[in-house]
Parts: sequence; C-alpha cells; structure tokens
Amino acid sequence: MTILDGKKVSNDIKNEIKQQVDKMIAKGEKVPHLAAVIVGNDGASLTYVGSKVRACERVGFESTMVRMSNTTSEIELLDKIEELNQNDDIDGFIIQLPLPRQINTQKVLMAVDPSKDVDGFHPENFGKMALDMSTFIPATPFGILELLDRYGVETDGKHTVIIGRSHIVGRPMSILMGRKGFPGNSTVTLTHSHTKNITQITSQADIIISALGVPNFLKAEMVKDDAVIIDVGITRVEDENSPKGYVITGDVDFENVSKKASYITPVPGGVGPMTIAMLLKNTLLAREQRM
Ligand code: NAP
Repeated sequence: MTILDGKKVSNDIKNEIKQQVDKMIAKGEKVPHLAAVIVGNDGASLTYVGSKVRACERVGFESTMVRMSNTTSEIELLDKIEELNQNDDIDGFIIQLPLPRQINTQKVLMAVDPSKDVDGFHPENFGKMALDMSTFIPATPFGILELLDRYGVETDGKHTVIIGRSHIVGRPMSILMGRKGFPGNSTVTLTHSHTKNITQITSQADIIISALGVPNFLKAEMVKDDAVIIDVGITRVEDENSPKGYVITGDVDFENVSKKASYITPVPGGVGPMTIAMLLKNTLLAREQRM
C-alpha cells in the first residue's frame, strides 16, 4: 500500500511555483496577485482562507483578504466583485463558500470575471472543462488529478466510482475522470444520496473518490482488494482529548480500508493541501494569461 502524500506533493508544486515567481521577479515582471473574499465569521472558512493567504506568501504571490460582515447584502457583495473584476492589479480571486443565507451563491459566482475565476466555478469555465478546452479546473479535482499523475496511478480503462455530486468536487471529478487522456479514460459511476446498493457499486471499483462529508462512511467491506482510494472528506468531529476540541476526519475508515488499498490518501495530508497548491497554480496561469 502506498500513501498518496498530498503534503509532500503540494510542497513540491509550491517549490516549482516559487521558482517561476523568482524568474518573474528577476525579469522585473509583476508577480501573481490572488484575492480571497470571505463573508461572515465561520471558523472553518477563516482557517481555509488563512491557509490560502499563507500559501501565497510562501510562493511569493501578493495576496489580499477581503473580509465582509455576516450581514453583507447580495448587492454589496456583487459591488465588491465588480471592483475586483475591474482591479488590474488582481489576477484572480475566490469567494469563500458557504455564503450567508441572504446571498444567492449562483448569482455571485456568475458575477466573477471568468478570466479571474481561479476556482473554476463560473459556468463558462465549467463548460470549457466539460469540452476538454483549456481553462481553470476547480482546485480540488485538479489536485486529485495531479496526485494520480505524479504517482503514476493507472486510470485508463479503470472503473472509477465517485461518491457525492457537488458542483465543486464530485460532478467535475466525474467529467475529468471520464475524459480522453491521462488521468482519465476511466469508466465513471457517479453516486449520491439516492443511489441504491452503494456497497455493490463501490466493491466493483478500481478507484473510489469519496466526497460526501460523512466521517468514516467508506468501510473495508465496501472496497475490493488493491483499490485506489481518494478521500476528499473533511469533517470536524468533536474530540475532548484534542487541544482544539475536534479532530479532522475523512470519509474513509482509513485504519481498515488502508489494509486493502493499493494507494490511499490520508486525512489530513492528502487532498486538502493539494487543493491549495492547485489554487496557486490557477492563479499563476491567470497572471500568465494577462501578460
Ligand atoms: P456537498 O455539497 O456537501 O455534497 C455532498 C454530496 O454527498 C451530495 O452529492 C450528496 O448527495 C452526497 N451524499 C450525502 N450522503 C450520501 C450517502 N449516504 N451516500 C451517497 N452519497 C451521499 O459536497 P462537497 O462540498 O463536495 O463536500 C464533500 C466533503 O468534501 C466535505 O467533507 C467537504 O468538507 C470536503 N471538501 C474537501 C475539500 C478539500 O480540499 N479536501 C474541498 C471541498 C470539499 P445528494 O446530491 O443526493 O444530496
């Protein structure tokens, strides 16, 4: 069994990006600038945005964190997005999700200029991805592809089962694993909460990508020998023995599933750090496209 070490691979990617930024600086070029908008005080969201800003600093990008209160109206957020769209100094920006109830998420994501949409959530970019055109691929699926690629995990002709059909992970992942090329050329089954007999489906999978957010959902008896297991889930589970009062738990019963798997991602240290590295990669791409 091989651990797909997202922490290590993401550090390699950050080092590669840093080298490119150093070259940009040596040539007197502008370095990439990422902005992150966060609305409200959700603890997990603040942690994620903080990690993204620190990652920018680490690779030499400029970064701006835009904090808006929990009572921000949709119009106020749309005005802020327009300001970022027009700001030539900003190469790419993200709107941290989830947004407070009074704001229509779809409307907000549609307002982002597709050329600055480094999360790849705008329908124009999502459509391009589905049509195999060059675009910003959403960071989490992009990170999973990169992990499979760097470890040389075979996907061609394999049966990939994806659990969860969210617009940010499961749905794009199903498109990417089924497209022509590597990683890809998989036969894909996309499962969700209405799927019947899920164990029957997962136990036939060569590759399982789990993105549902239910701790320890995927058990050893749901997995065949030598399967490749990608655990996207991140859930805070209360734990009074932990200094923070919680532990981060994935969707996979790692202890038992890892005994059967050929490759497996840990949580934490698997898909999570890859997501941040690929956001940086998309921001670098956005800068290059604006030169
Ligand atoms: P989401 O929007 O929370 O949706 C969950 C999906 O799982 C839905 O499609 C739902 O089906 C499906 N589902 C729920 N219970 C199920 C069950 N018992 N059997 C089969 N499918 C079931 O998904 P998300 O935003 O992609 O998040 C999923 C997890 O990934 C969360 O833990 C999140 O924190 C984590 N995440 C991690 C990263 C990272 O960087 N590592 C990035 C994004 C998300 P329906 O569509 O039928 O409701």
